[in-house]
Amino acid sequence: MTVEYERRDAVALVTMNRPEYRNAQNSAMTYALDAAFVRAVDDDEVKVIVLAGAGKHFSAGHDIGTPERDVHVSYERKAVLWWDHVGRPGGDLRYAREMEVYLGMCRRWREIPKPTIAMVQGACIAGGLMLAWVCDLIVAADDAFFADPVVRMGIPGVEYFAHPWVLGPRAAKEFLFTGDRFDAARAHQLGMVNRVVPRADLETETLAIAARIAEMPRFGLALAKKAVNQAEDEMGMRTGMDSVFGLHHFAHAHNAEVSPDPLAGMDARSMKAAGARDGS
Ligand code: ZN
Repeated sequence: MTVEYERRDAVALVTMNRPEYRNAQNSAMTYALDAAFVRAVDDDEVKVIVLAGAGKHFSAGHDIGTPERDVHVSYERKAVLWWDHVGRPGGDLRYAREMEVYLGMCRRWREIPKPTIAMVQGACIAGGLMLAWVCDLIVAADDAFFADPVVRMGIPGVEYFAHPWVLGPRAAKEFLFTGDRFDAARAHQLGMVNRVVPRADLETETLAIAARIAEMPRFGLALAKKAVNQAEDEMGMRTGMDSVFGLHHFAHAHNAEVSPDPLAGMDARSMKAAGARDGS
């Protein structure tokens, strides 16, 4: 299974399960995550949802090079009302797909009416950051590291452009401009994660926080979540992201025009070779 689902008391544990590819997200995983979240929302026994990654890493980002990369496969669309991307030319394909699979899905999951906690160890890179950021809380292991290196592709950040809101503008620029990794301690200092715990205690500590939250009334939690999300949107996050999505797609289109492909000819291997240095 690409995504594992398990209920432990009042907590649904949703686990990305492609550890051999550092939980790179293909569309199969995205839709499996969505199905798991829907199941957790519909289950009255579930009060809190924990999102985890199997193996050494939370998620290395979107799948840009595994054998199961499925960019040209149709899935039943869930996030936006738009036509299928498959078979469309140029920007028509990219815009339709990324609006649904990346930005739309992340926004949909941010609105899950139950509290969500990302439980992060190892790599949390680019598309991995998107998943952690849509969760309400982030608990990081002391070995976790974060980066959005897509400026190397000439692209101004991942599709769910929360950087200035979750990092502050100064750190957002630092990490976009350098592509460097930052560690859990720096993420905590910046207010991007709630807790940093020893790797060995990550699951216990995360489930303990989930259990504390689960003592609160369900509807109160849902309203509190909506209240903070609305405040974040009042701080410009939603409209800001919409405007940056245009810049993001302009960058893809520019790459498609002047380089081998919309990712500037880069894949997982060349991105790794270009090297996100440890800037923490
Ligand atoms: Zn993109």
